[in-house]
Amino acid sequence: MCSTRAVFKDEMLVKGAVFYLDTGLPTKAKFLLEDFRLAVNNAIRAGLQARVTSRNALVKIAYKDFRQDHPLMYSLHLVSAFGVACGILKNYRKRDRKGANCRIPYVKRPFMKAENQAYKLDRKSGVVDLPIRAGCHVELKLVVSQYHRKYLDDMTLSLGSLTVLPDRVIVAFRKDAPKPYAPNSLISLDTNEQSLDGVFAEGGVAKAIKAEFPDIAIIQQRHHDRRKRLQKKKAHDRRISRNLCRREGSREHRRIDYRLHQVANSVLKFAEERRSAIVLEDLRGFKSKRSKELNRRLSMWPRGKLHQIIEYKAQWSGIPVFKVDPRNSSRTCPICGRIHDSRMGAEFVCECGWRLDRHINASINLLQTAISKGMAGGLRFNPGAFQHDVMMILYDPVTGARSEPNGTSGIAGVT
Ligand SMILES: [Zn+2]
Repeated sequence: MCSTRAVFKDEMLVKGAVFYLDTGLPTKAKFLLEDFRLAVNNAIRAGLQARVTSRNALVKIAYKDFRQDHPLMYSLHLVSAFGVACGILKNYRKRDRKGANCRIPYVKRPFMKAENQAYKLDRKSGVVDLPIRAGCHVELKLVVSQYHRKYLDDMTLSLGSLTVLPDRVIVAFRKDAPKPYAPNSLISLDTNEQSLDGVFAEGGVAKAIKAEFPDIAIIQQRHHDRRKRLQKKKAHDRRISRNLCRREGSREHRRIDYRLHQVANSVLKFAEERRSAIVLEDLRGFKSKRSKELNRRLSMWPRGKLHQIIEYKAQWSGIPVFKVDPRNSSRTCPICGRIHDSRMGAEFVCECGWRLDRHINASINLLQTAISKGMAGGLRFNPGAFQHDVMMILYDPVTGARSEPNGTSGIAGVT
């Protein structure tokens, strides 16, 4: 019935850090990116033709031809191109199986990916030594900020692959997932359209907490409208319409992603400072019987994405996260256990006299489920000890607002 799960597994964690290049990409490296792009596209075609799925199989059937077609490329880069092609093919097959109509994948932008044996990064100076072919190397000078230093100077992080783009590189840093700490307190969060609402419980006292992000819905609405307008205006030219919409889409994606990371960071900072475990709803199999319009708005807004970011960052820092089945969490009274028939207005009211903000009430139920499943160690929580007059703000989009080119009020504090 009620499924609960801890999200931690023993695994290698990877984080990519973007570095810009101090002086542009050397010409030799530009040729390498173009050559790599061609190799990936050739490998995709070869893989499709031979119906091959693994990198090794692909290397076996196609390496010889490739060595002739790309005589100057460093052999490890060539193998890496096969790996990239396999990843692309895997995604393509997944979409294909689902029946989504999709075109044969083709890489348009020049880039290259070097595995960790195929390049050297001096972590002190931030200089990458990238081999092009035997006896020919290029040096890439990375722009290193304080943010980058955190990764470069942390020797518990090992280097993964290096992705080179025309104006920047992405370095993958890897580490073993740290063991999550034993929590001293609990945070549970109910995920809503414009905010995370929840409780923070520590030493027999519980307070309401909130992280608001009203601008995410606003941004989504604006981009949705703009896309619709574009489609209408450019109806005579499908290609232009599609390209413009795509550009709109990636802009929207970046804006929203940025805010989701800010919200996640503030939640995790709060949790880490108080050594809290975080309880979230398990959204798997989440279906709602809401109106079409509300469903569109809810599916547009990336609640799953926010959870993903929180979980991943928590795992990186060793903060325990638990996920619980949210069924009935918005209809149950945490004091007397009555389950009410329908959702209520903004406030949850029970015959037993309990009344509370609907979202915070839901988060109390999530917390109690987590505790009843024994997930919080010896920690206890008594809903009667909830302090109704206190609200702790984890994240507020207004403080230190950063103005954007289009005038949207934004969020400051880039980490
Ligand atoms: Zn009640």
